[in-house]
Amino acid sequence: MKTSIIGAGQMGNGIAQVFAAKGHQVTMIDLNRKALDRGLATISNSLDRLIKKERITTKEKENILANIRLETSLEAGVREAELVVEAATENLDLKLKIFGQLDAAAPADCILATNTSSISITQIAAATKRPHKVIGMHFMNPVPIMKLVEVIRGYATDEATTETIMQLSKELGKTPTEVNDYPGFVANRVLMPMINEAITTLWEGVAGVEEIDTVMKLGMAHPMGPLQLADFIGLDTCLAILRVMQDGFGRAHYQPCPLLVNMVMAGKLGRKSGEGFYDYSGGGKELVVSGSFC
Ligand code: NAD
Repeated sequence: MKTSIIGAGQMGNGIAQVFAAKGHQVTMIDLNRKALDRGLATISNSLDRLIKKERITTKEKENILANIRLETSLEAGVREAELVVEAATENLDLKLKIFGQLDAAAPADCILATNTSSISITQIAAATKRPHKVIGMHFMNPVPIMKLVEVIRGYATDEATTETIMQLSKELGKTPTEVNDYPGFVANRVLMPMINEAITTLWEGVAGVEEIDTVMKLGMAHPMGPLQLADFIGLDTCLAILRVMQDGFGRAHYQPCPLLVNMVMAGKLGRKSGEGFYDYSGGGKELVVSGSFC
Protein backbone atom coordinates (compact mmCIF):
# COMPACT_ATOMS: atom_id res chain seq x y z
CA MET A 1 0.00 0.00 0.00
CA LYS A 2 1.40 3.45 -0.90
CA THR A 3 1.62 5.12 2.51
CA SER A 4 2.63 8.67 3.34
CA ILE A 5 3.72 9.54 6.87
CA ILE A 6 3.47 13.18 7.95
CA GLY A 7 6.22 14.05 10.47
CA ALA A 8 9.61 12.34 10.80
CA GLY A 9 9.94 12.78 14.58
CA GLN A 10 10.01 10.06 17.24
CA MET A 11 6.73 8.53 16.09
CA GLY A 12 6.85 9.28 12.35
CA ASN A 13 10.13 7.52 11.73
CA GLY A 14 9.05 4.50 13.78
CA ILE A 15 5.79 4.24 11.83
CA ALA A 16 7.71 4.58 8.54
CA GLN A 17 10.04 1.75 9.59
CA VAL A 18 7.18 -0.60 10.47
CA PHE A 19 5.35 -0.02 7.17
CA ALA A 20 8.55 -0.25 5.09
CA ALA A 21 9.56 -3.49 6.83
CA LYS A 22 6.30 -5.07 5.62
CA GLY A 23 7.02 -4.05 2.02
CA HIS A 24 4.84 -0.92 1.79
CA GLN A 25 6.07 2.00 -0.31
CA VAL A 26 6.53 4.79 2.23
CA THR A 27 6.93 8.52 1.72
CA MET A 28 8.11 10.21 4.93
CA ILE A 29 7.23 13.90 4.88
CA ASP A 30 8.50 16.66 7.17
CA LEU A 31 8.74 20.42 6.69
CA ASN A 32 12.14 20.24 8.30
CA ARG A 33 14.84 18.65 6.10
CA LYS A 34 17.04 17.98 9.15
CA ALA A 35 14.18 16.12 10.85
CA LEU A 36 13.88 13.91 7.75
CA ASP A 37 17.61 13.12 7.79
CA ARG A 38 17.52 12.45 11.55
CA GLY A 39 14.44 10.26 11.08
CA LEU A 40 16.13 8.18 8.40
CA ALA A 41 19.30 7.84 10.54
CA THR A 42 17.13 6.64 13.46
CA ILE A 43 15.56 3.98 11.23
CA SER A 44 18.98 2.90 9.98
CA ASN A 45 20.29 2.57 13.58
CA SER A 46 17.19 0.66 14.61
CA LEU A 47 17.68 -1.78 11.71
CA ASP A 48 21.36 -2.19 12.63
CA ARG A 49 20.26 -3.31 16.10
CA LEU A 50 17.99 -5.93 14.45
CA ILE A 51 20.93 -7.13 12.31
CA LYS A 52 23.06 -7.50 15.48
CA LYS A 53 20.30 -9.59 17.05
CA GLU A 54 20.19 -11.65 13.81
CA ARG A 55 16.53 -10.76 13.31
CA ILE A 56 17.16 -9.33 9.81
CA THR A 57 20.01 -9.51 7.28
CA THR A 58 22.01 -6.63 5.80
CA LYS A 59 20.19 -7.23 2.49
CA GLU A 60 16.81 -6.94 4.24
CA LYS A 61 17.92 -3.66 5.79
CA GLU A 62 18.78 -2.36 2.31
CA ASN A 63 15.36 -3.45 1.02
CA ILE A 64 13.55 -1.74 3.91
CA LEU A 65 15.46 1.52 3.40
CA ALA A 66 14.78 1.32 -0.35
CA ASN A 67 11.04 1.37 0.44
CA ILE A 68 11.35 4.81 2.08
CA ARG A 69 11.34 8.08 0.14
CA LEU A 70 11.86 11.47 1.83
CA GLU A 71 9.83 14.56 0.94
CA THR A 72 9.50 18.11 2.28
CA SER A 73 6.37 19.02 0.27
CA LEU A 74 3.14 17.65 1.69
CA GLU A 75 1.31 18.07 -1.63
CA ALA A 76 3.93 16.16 -3.65
CA GLY A 77 4.27 13.52 -0.93
CA VAL A 78 0.61 12.48 -0.79
CA ARG A 79 -0.40 12.82 -4.45
CA GLU A 80 -0.50 9.04 -5.02
CA ALA A 81 -1.10 7.88 -1.44
CA GLU A 82 -3.60 5.15 -0.58
CA LEU A 83 -3.12 5.83 3.14
CA VAL A 84 -1.75 8.81 5.04
CA VAL A 85 -0.69 8.48 8.69
CA GLU A 86 -0.23 11.92 10.23
CA ALA A 87 2.34 12.06 13.08
CA ALA A 88 3.14 15.77 13.30
CA THR A 89 3.37 17.76 16.54
CA GLU A 90 0.44 17.39 18.99
CA ASN A 91 -1.34 20.67 18.26
CA LEU A 92 -4.98 21.04 17.23
CA ASP A 93 -4.57 24.03 14.89
CA LEU A 94 -1.63 22.37 13.16
CA LYS A 95 -3.54 19.13 12.65
CA LEU A 96 -6.64 20.96 11.32
CA LYS A 97 -4.43 22.78 8.81
CA ILE A 98 -2.64 19.59 7.76
CA PHE A 99 -5.91 17.68 7.29
CA GLY A 100 -7.33 20.52 5.15
CA GLN A 101 -4.19 20.28 2.97
CA LEU A 102 -4.33 16.48 2.87
CA ASP A 103 -7.96 16.52 1.80
CA ALA A 104 -7.11 18.82 -1.10
CA ALA A 105 -3.96 16.96 -2.20
CA ALA A 106 -4.55 13.23 -1.58
CA PRO A 107 -6.65 11.01 -3.91
CA ALA A 108 -10.37 10.97 -3.02
CA ASP A 109 -10.31 7.33 -1.87
CA CYS A 110 -7.22 7.73 0.34
CA ILE A 111 -7.73 7.02 4.06
CA LEU A 112 -6.47 9.83 6.30
CA ALA A 113 -5.31 8.45 9.67
CA THR A 114 -3.88 10.42 12.57
CA ASN A 115 -1.49 9.22 15.26
CA THR A 116 -2.74 11.93 17.65
CA SER A 117 -2.44 11.00 21.34
CA SER A 118 -5.50 12.87 22.50
CA ILE A 119 -7.11 15.26 19.99
CA SER A 120 -10.66 14.64 18.77
CA ILE A 121 -10.75 12.53 15.60
CA THR A 122 -14.22 13.96 14.93
CA GLN A 123 -12.86 17.53 15.00
CA ILE A 124 -9.88 16.66 12.78
CA ALA A 125 -12.22 14.85 10.36
CA ALA A 126 -14.44 17.94 10.14
CA ALA A 127 -11.53 19.80 8.52
CA THR A 128 -11.99 17.49 5.49
CA LYS A 129 -14.75 16.68 3.00
CA ARG A 130 -14.23 12.95 3.70
CA PRO A 131 -14.87 12.56 7.46
CA HIS A 132 -15.97 8.94 6.88
CA LYS A 133 -12.39 8.16 5.76
CA VAL A 134 -10.66 9.81 8.75
CA ILE A 135 -9.61 7.63 11.68
CA GLY A 136 -7.25 7.50 14.67
CA MET A 137 -4.36 5.04 14.29
CA HIS A 138 -2.50 5.54 17.55
CA PHE A 139 0.82 3.70 17.64
CA MET A 140 2.86 3.44 20.84
CA ASN A 141 6.47 4.50 21.37
CA PRO A 142 8.85 2.89 20.31
CA VAL A 143 6.72 1.88 17.33
CA PRO A 144 8.83 -1.04 16.05
CA ILE A 145 8.63 -2.73 19.47
CA MET A 146 5.24 -1.87 20.97
CA LYS A 147 2.40 -4.16 19.94
CA LEU A 148 -0.64 -1.93 20.53
CA VAL A 149 -2.44 0.22 17.98
CA GLU A 150 -5.34 2.11 19.54
CA VAL A 151 -7.86 2.49 16.68
CA ILE A 152 -10.23 5.40 17.24
CA ARG A 153 -13.44 5.86 15.29
CA GLY A 154 -14.59 9.44 14.90
CA TYR A 155 -18.29 10.29 14.81
CA ALA A 156 -18.41 9.83 11.03
CA THR A 157 -15.74 7.14 10.46
CA ASP A 158 -17.33 4.37 8.41
CA GLU A 159 -17.14 0.62 8.84
CA ALA A 160 -14.99 0.03 5.73
CA THR A 161 -12.31 2.49 6.93
CA THR A 162 -12.28 0.94 10.41
CA GLU A 163 -12.05 -2.58 8.98
CA THR A 164 -9.17 -1.60 6.65
CA ILE A 165 -7.17 -0.07 9.52
CA MET A 166 -7.88 -2.97 11.91
CA GLN A 167 -6.76 -5.47 9.26
CA LEU A 168 -3.71 -3.45 8.25
CA SER A 169 -2.60 -3.09 11.88
CA LYS A 170 -2.69 -6.89 12.21
CA GLU A 171 -0.66 -7.25 8.99
CA LEU A 172 1.92 -4.90 10.53
CA GLY A 173 2.26 -7.37 13.42
CA LYS A 174 0.31 -5.21 15.88
CA THR A 175 -2.74 -5.80 18.05
CA PRO A 176 -5.37 -3.20 17.17
CA THR A 177 -7.87 -2.24 19.87
CA GLU A 178 -10.92 -0.20 18.95
CA VAL A 179 -12.00 2.64 21.24
CA ASN A 180 -14.38 5.59 21.06
CA ASP A 181 -13.47 9.19 20.40
CA TYR A 182 -13.13 11.07 23.71
CA PRO A 183 -10.17 13.23 24.83
CA GLY A 184 -7.06 11.10 25.46
CA PHE A 185 -8.94 7.98 24.26
CA VAL A 186 -7.96 5.14 26.66
CA ALA A 187 -4.15 5.01 26.67
CA ASN A 188 -3.43 8.60 27.65
CA ARG A 189 -6.56 9.09 29.75
CA VAL A 190 -5.18 6.44 32.07
CA LEU A 191 -1.45 7.15 31.67
CA MET A 192 -1.23 10.96 31.80
CA PRO A 193 -2.86 11.48 35.23
CA MET A 194 -0.23 9.07 36.62
CA ILE A 195 2.64 10.95 34.96
CA ASN A 196 1.20 14.30 36.09
CA GLU A 197 0.87 13.00 39.66
CA ALA A 198 4.47 11.77 39.59
CA ILE A 199 5.61 15.26 38.51
CA THR A 200 3.47 16.86 41.25
CA THR A 201 4.98 14.44 43.80
CA LEU A 202 8.44 15.63 42.74
CA TRP A 203 7.34 19.31 42.74
CA GLU A 204 5.97 19.04 46.26
CA GLY A 205 9.28 17.57 47.43
CA VAL A 206 7.87 14.23 48.52
CA ALA A 207 10.72 12.38 46.82
CA GLY A 208 13.42 12.81 44.18
CA VAL A 209 13.34 11.74 40.51
CA GLU A 210 15.13 8.46 41.03
CA GLU A 211 13.11 7.58 44.13
CA ILE A 212 9.76 8.16 42.39
CA ASP A 213 10.82 6.12 39.36
CA THR A 214 12.24 3.33 41.54
CA VAL A 215 9.02 3.08 43.58
CA MET A 216 6.95 2.68 40.44
CA LYS A 217 9.39 0.32 38.70
CA LEU A 218 10.00 -2.05 41.58
CA GLY A 219 6.73 -1.51 43.42
CA MET A 220 4.33 -1.69 40.49
CA ALA A 221 6.46 -3.73 38.05
CA HIS A 222 6.43 -0.91 35.48
CA PRO A 223 9.28 -1.38 32.98
CA MET A 224 10.13 2.32 33.27
CA GLY A 225 9.36 4.92 35.96
CA PRO A 226 6.78 7.64 35.13
CA LEU A 227 9.34 10.48 35.00
CA GLN A 228 11.61 8.58 32.63
CA LEU A 229 8.55 7.66 30.58
CA ALA A 230 7.52 11.35 30.43
CA ASP A 231 11.02 12.19 29.12
CA PHE A 232 10.69 9.40 26.60
CA ILE A 233 7.27 10.58 25.34
CA GLY A 234 8.36 14.25 25.27
CA LEU A 235 7.32 16.73 27.97
CA ASP A 236 5.75 19.02 25.34
CA THR A 237 3.59 16.12 24.16
CA CYS A 238 2.60 15.23 27.77
CA LEU A 239 1.61 18.86 28.40
CA ALA A 240 -0.37 19.07 25.16
CA ILE A 241 -2.27 15.85 26.00
CA LEU A 242 -3.13 17.03 29.53
CA ARG A 243 -4.44 20.33 28.13
CA VAL A 244 -6.63 18.54 25.58
CA MET A 245 -8.14 16.44 28.42
CA GLN A 246 -8.49 19.45 30.73
CA ASP A 247 -10.31 21.43 28.00
CA GLY A 248 -12.32 18.45 26.78
CA PHE A 249 -13.65 17.28 30.14
CA GLY A 250 -13.49 20.60 32.05
CA ARG A 251 -12.08 18.79 35.09
CA ALA A 252 -9.32 20.19 37.31
CA HIS A 253 -8.15 16.58 37.65
CA TYR A 254 -6.23 16.96 34.37
CA GLN A 255 -4.64 20.34 35.19
CA PRO A 256 -0.91 20.08 34.31
CA CYS A 257 1.57 20.42 37.18
CA PRO A 258 3.22 23.91 37.08
CA LEU A 259 6.62 22.20 37.03
CA LEU A 260 5.74 20.46 33.77
CA VAL A 261 4.63 23.80 32.29
CA ASN A 262 7.87 25.48 33.39
CA MET A 263 10.08 22.72 32.01
CA VAL A 264 8.38 22.89 28.61
CA MET A 265 8.74 26.70 28.57
CA ALA A 266 12.44 26.24 29.39
CA GLY A 267 12.84 23.91 26.39
CA LYS A 268 13.51 20.87 28.61
CA LEU A 269 11.45 18.43 26.56
CA GLY A 270 13.05 15.16 27.67
CA ARG A 271 15.11 12.81 25.59
CA LYS A 272 14.47 14.58 22.27
CA SER A 273 15.92 17.89 23.56
CA GLY A 274 18.73 16.19 25.53
CA GLU A 275 17.33 16.98 28.99
CA GLY A 276 14.15 16.57 31.01
CA PHE A 277 13.99 14.85 34.37
CA TYR A 278 17.19 13.10 33.26
CA ASP A 279 20.15 14.28 31.17
CA TYR A 280 20.64 12.46 27.85
CA SER A 281 23.41 14.65 26.44
CA GLY A 282 26.10 12.02 27.01
CA GLY A 283 24.16 9.37 25.07
CA GLY A 284 23.00 7.55 28.22
CA LYS A 285 20.57 8.55 30.97
CA GLU A 286 21.99 10.53 33.92
CA LEU A 287 20.21 12.25 36.79
CA VAL A 288 20.02 16.03 36.42
CA VAL A 289 21.92 17.04 39.54
CA SER A 290 22.54 20.72 38.96
CA GLY A 291 19.06 22.17 38.46
CA SER A 292 16.32 22.44 41.07
CA PHE A 293 12.98 20.97 40.09
CA CYS A 294 10.86 22.97 42.53
P1 NAD B 1 8.12 14.99 17.54
O1 NAD B 1 8.19 16.35 18.14
O2 NAD B 1 9.21 14.01 17.80
O3 NAD B 1 7.96 15.10 15.93
C1 NAD B 1 7.03 15.92 15.30
C2 NAD B 1 7.51 16.17 13.88
O4 NAD B 1 6.46 16.81 13.16
C3 NAD B 1 8.74 17.10 13.81
O5 NAD B 1 9.78 16.46 13.09
C4 NAD B 1 8.22 18.32 13.05
O6 NAD B 1 9.19 18.91 12.20
C5 NAD B 1 7.07 17.70 12.25
N1 NAD B 1 6.09 18.65 11.75
C6 NAD B 1 5.54 19.71 12.39
N2 NAD B 1 4.66 20.34 11.58
C7 NAD B 1 4.66 19.67 10.40
C8 NAD B 1 3.97 19.83 9.16
N3 NAD B 1 3.09 20.83 8.98
N4 NAD B 1 4.21 18.97 8.17
C9 NAD B 1 5.10 17.95 8.35
N5 NAD B 1 5.78 17.75 9.50
C10 NAD B 1 5.56 18.61 10.51
O7 NAD B 1 6.71 14.40 18.00
P2 NAD B 1 6.29 12.85 18.18
O8 NAD B 1 6.60 12.42 19.56
O9 NAD B 1 6.78 12.07 17.01
O10 NAD B 1 4.69 12.98 18.12
C11 NAD B 1 4.01 13.06 16.87
C12 NAD B 1 2.55 12.73 17.07
O11 NAD B 1 2.46 11.40 17.61
C13 NAD B 1 1.81 13.64 18.06
O12 NAD B 1 0.49 13.80 17.65
C14 NAD B 1 1.90 12.86 19.37
O13 NAD B 1 0.88 13.19 20.26
C15 NAD B 1 1.73 11.43 18.84
N6 NAD B 1 2.24 10.36 19.72
C16 NAD B 1 3.40 10.54 20.41
C17 NAD B 1 3.88 9.51 21.22
C18 NAD B 1 5.17 9.66 21.99
O14 NAD B 1 5.46 8.82 22.86
N7 NAD B 1 6.00 10.66 21.72
C19 NAD B 1 3.18 8.29 21.29
C20 NAD B 1 2.01 8.13 20.55
C21 NAD B 1 1.55 9.19 19.76
